[in-house]
Amino acid sequence: MNTRYRRAVLAGNWKMNLLCGDVKPYAQRLRELAERRARREVLVCVPFPLIPAAVRAFRGSHIAVGAQDVSEEPKGARTGEVSAAQLRDAGVKYVIVGHSERRQYHGETDSVVNRKLTAVHGEGMTPILCVGETLEQRELGIQGELVTMQVKAALSGLPEELLRRTIIAYEPIWAIGTGRTASPEQAQEMCALIRSVLRQLYGARAARAVPVLYGGSMNADNAEALLRQPDVDGGLVGGASLDPEKFSRIIAAADRLETPGTV
Ligand code: PEP
Repeated sequence: MNTRYRRAVLAGNWKMNLLCGDVKPYAQRLRELAERRARREVLVCVPFPLIPAAVRAFRGSHIAVGAQDVSEEPKGARTGEVSAAQLRDAGVKYVIVGHSERRQYHGETDSVVNRKLTAVHGEGMTPILCVGETLEQRELGIQGELVTMQVKAALSGLPEELLRRTIIAYEPIWAIGTGRTASPEQAQEMCALIRSVLRQLYGARAARAVPVLYGGSMNADNAEALLRQPDVDGGLVGGASLDPEKFSRIIAAADRLETPGTV
């Protein structure tokens, strides 16, 4: 993490867990545990039906509400989908796009991810773009090429001012929900690679400003070592974000590593 150049971001991803009644007690506890800090952002990406309760419960706090997906279409005959305008209207500030579970179970291609990212920016929200390789791809040694391709395809056509309002999460699929975390060195290598792709596409200043997160079985015990890496600017946290105590310990690990100076 280097909060001199960019903010730290700790994003929870509840996936398809918890119910409306869980939101208020969760929010109360997280608000007590996670203090406000100028150089980092905390948010929770909740299932669609829980968005209104989450927006109410976090109102007036420094913790924002995100969504886990969005339609690439602006409106119309898309039964079951939710548009970027509807999310913005509901109070959502961040949207995960291209999560591997969407790619895997819903056949999302890089070009769909690119359209979703554009839709999120179109409504002034911040996309969290997820990229990452399968275990098989890592064993073949092609993780670098694969992730480079995913980043380039997802950002295609995106102007620099919107890149600066984008977050990228490196999430090796073999580490998501498996309890098998990437080593700090593996996380650093891939997050640095992503930043080098951004540098190539947009120049050094823009690349330096974009938070690149790690996601994949991050927990209170491994967070500090991962976040200590210079190009790992935070975490996208699934399982451990379901419990405010556990999530706040990850947030506290980031706070201990804050770099003095200004973003
Ligand atoms: C995720 O949902 O993106 C994730 C990283 O999950 P977990 O932390 O449970 O591996």
